[in-house]
Amino acid sequence: MLNLSHRTASAVRALQRLAAGMATAAPRIGDTKVPMSLLEKGAYINYQRIEDNLAIVRERLGRPLTLSEKILYGHLDDPHGQVIERGVSYLKLRPDRVACQDATAQMALLQFMSAGMDTAAVPTTVHCDHLIEAQVGGVKDLARAIEINKEVYDFLATATAKYGLGFWKPGSGIIHQILLENYAFPGGLMIGTDSHTPNAGGLGMVACGVGGADAVDVMADIPWELKCPKVIGVNLVGKISGWTTPKDVILKVAGILTVKGGTGAIVEYKGPGVESISCTGMATICNMGAEIGATTSVFPFNKRMTDYLNATKRHEIAKYAQRFSHNLRADENSEYDNHIEINLSELEPHINGPFTPDLATPISKFAEAVKENKWPEELKVALIGSCTNSSYEDMSRAASIAQEAATHGLEVKSQFTITPGSEQVRATIERDGQIGAFEDVGGLVLANACGPCIGQWDRKDVKMGEPNSIITSYNRNFTGRNDANPATHAFVASPDIVTAMAFAGNLSFNPLTDSLTGSDGKPFRFSDPSGNELPPRGYDPGQDTFQPPPADRATVQVAVDPKSERLQLLQPFKPWDGNTPKDLPVLIKVHGKCTTDHISAGGPWLKYRGHLQNISQNCLIGAINAENGEANKVKNQLTGEYSGVPQVAADYRDKGIKWVVVGDHNYGEGSSREHAALEPRYLGGLAIIVRSFARIHETNLKKQGMLALTFVDPADYDKVKPSDRVDILGLESFAPGKDLTMRLRHENGSTEDIPLAHSFNEGQIGWFKAGSALNLMAAKAKGQA
Ligand code: SF4
Repeated sequence: MLNLSHRTASAVRALQRLAAGMATAAPRIGDTKVPMSLLEKGAYINYQRIEDNLAIVRERLGRPLTLSEKILYGHLDDPHGQVIERGVSYLKLRPDRVACQDATAQMALLQFMSAGMDTAAVPTTVHCDHLIEAQVGGVKDLARAIEINKEVYDFLATATAKYGLGFWKPGSGIIHQILLENYAFPGGLMIGTDSHTPNAGGLGMVACGVGGADAVDVMADIPWELKCPKVIGVNLVGKISGWTTPKDVILKVAGILTVKGGTGAIVEYKGPGVESISCTGMATICNMGAEIGATTSVFPFNKRMTDYLNATKRHEIAKYAQRFSHNLRADENSEYDNHIEINLSELEPHINGPFTPDLATPISKFAEAVKENKWPEELKVALIGSCTNSSYEDMSRAASIAQEAATHGLEVKSQFTITPGSEQVRATIERDGQIGAFEDVGGLVLANACGPCIGQWDRKDVKMGEPNSIITSYNRNFTGRNDANPATHAFVASPDIVTAMAFAGNLSFNPLTDSLTGSDGKPFRFSDPSGNELPPRGYDPGQDTFQPPPADRATVQVAVDPKSERLQLLQPFKPWDGNTPKDLPVLIKVHGKCTTDHISAGGPWLKYRGHLQNISQNCLIGAINAENGEANKVKNQLTGEYSGVPQVAADYRDKGIKWVVVGDHNYGEGSSREHAALEPRYLGGLAIIVRSFARIHETNLKKQGMLALTFVDPADYDKVKPSDRVDILGLESFAPGKDLTMRLRHENGSTEDIPLAHSFNEGQIGWFKAGSALNLMAAKAKGQA
């Protein structure tokens, strides 16, 4: 009864709105066309979709919405039918754009090429930043990287040109800085194949780091699935000043929430303190939200964003966002799953680490912590920059410290490196003197790239295994991340603290209270750092490093050398032949934990991530064989000999025999790595049958045309013997919600039938039958499906 009256009231309101609309025909936000980026023609900000979706969702939920809810639900594929339950349901979303960095873009583009589409469904960019090693300085390092990675860069340049994507050449800068400068906009939804994509939250965008499989989906016009995030509200009060910087906000939040505290949640900042933080500072805070496992972080649209949009020549976007600002902030009384308050006026600079970004120590307690924990006190290297902290403001403040030290005749005591986040920042700080200030005190300017942040650092000053300390303004500091040395104690702090520490050469130095001795023998204390938020003379774009898609794409040939060891074009997987699979060997019965790292190891294998045949040589080599308790040692059922998992799999495949894997609970947990699903498919696998799946991996397997199946009774796992042969019965009537049957043929001739559940929907069954999701897309593109 209640429900009926609610619906009736809704209908009346709808009619009233309709009548009002007919009478006045108020202008719609979507009547104004504002391009998402100055670099793309014909792709416009779609605020109308948000407006329309939210009208439906508000009606359904009948409660105030947080900012991130507004942006996410404003991008729902089906606002009427979508189940919306924070922390529970899975949202199907339509992102505005996709961004890929060069390491992850390789397989994403190779897969997209097999979707049979001639252009990506949404604007997409590729950024060359991860493969440039820091050695002797920006110019030479870049030249060397271009030589070493030539085949990868040539492939990315030609594939992006062919399929209508924007390409940022090596030297252009780090993906997240370029996105902030050119593509992020308030209220947008972006996915990027890099975990620090949330950086764009500094411009009011919901931006999430994803695996390549998700990027391919969105490029191929398949909705993106995301578990409906919970929302953590961080209320900022007071005002940031002195040595305290935006970095200290996130260092503090990381200390409160720890590395897992943001999992499955969006961190939403709000409160009067927001206005005291620059746009690039907000980006720093959102960037490092990845360190607490958050889905992403976001700030409400405000004046500081307007200033940044104007400085980057996007006045139209600033004006448009202003008109839409009611949907670019949280509703009054919106509810959060968790709430934190930080008083910026009382916030001290923090130093986090070593070995984990959530070990937060206020600077006033840090010297004590160094002694207590016996962390190596001498500071070997101080590194500023990276995608996290390389804005004009960051560089200007750090330069003010360097200049003050220089007036006292000092040079840095530690090594001191500077990584500009983009060519635009580099050119601007060169023109405005900050680079000169760094070099005058002994700083080394590295290429506009990830460099030491991702371990691309040919470090020579300490031996492997030698305990030592470094401090960076980067974001991640897990063991070995920067220099592969597990004994390096890496600390994370603001660029201000890092720069000041470089002059002390000692971790126990507190620039707020301690003095240094100038070359005249007199002690001095640093003044509070200062610097312009935005360049007073405007940004200098520097060298033109952007390659837009050419007008004539038909003649572009995608460059892949058939002899390449790093790149290989993908061949479409074969469709299901319609026959009941019979007599399949069990390749491996996995015992215990089997993460995506066990299925597709990283480390040295990453250089093959664009070459499916080569990287498949790591397939399941970390999984433990239940038969013998060993990794990468399974019995070849055809020869009776023991060999590596990929070798046995390839032998079966080459003899035309499909196989299955049997696994335990939560199979495929860990980072979303599409190779973990591509490899077993490439090596001839048909089904992965487990007690339970990690959901993302289960979906990834389905996308590649594999059967992802679970034991109806998890205890049936114990009935499978590694020597069994397996039939999969029921595929001729494969349907959502209908169990299949696994017939076990034991070595002794007996058989046993076990029910298997699955979570395939109609569309996903189509993927299986077509051989993969991309095969189905390709058939659709040709009008054959
Ligand atoms: Fe990732 Fe570091 Fe590069 Fe940023 S600078 S994108 S954190 S590797």
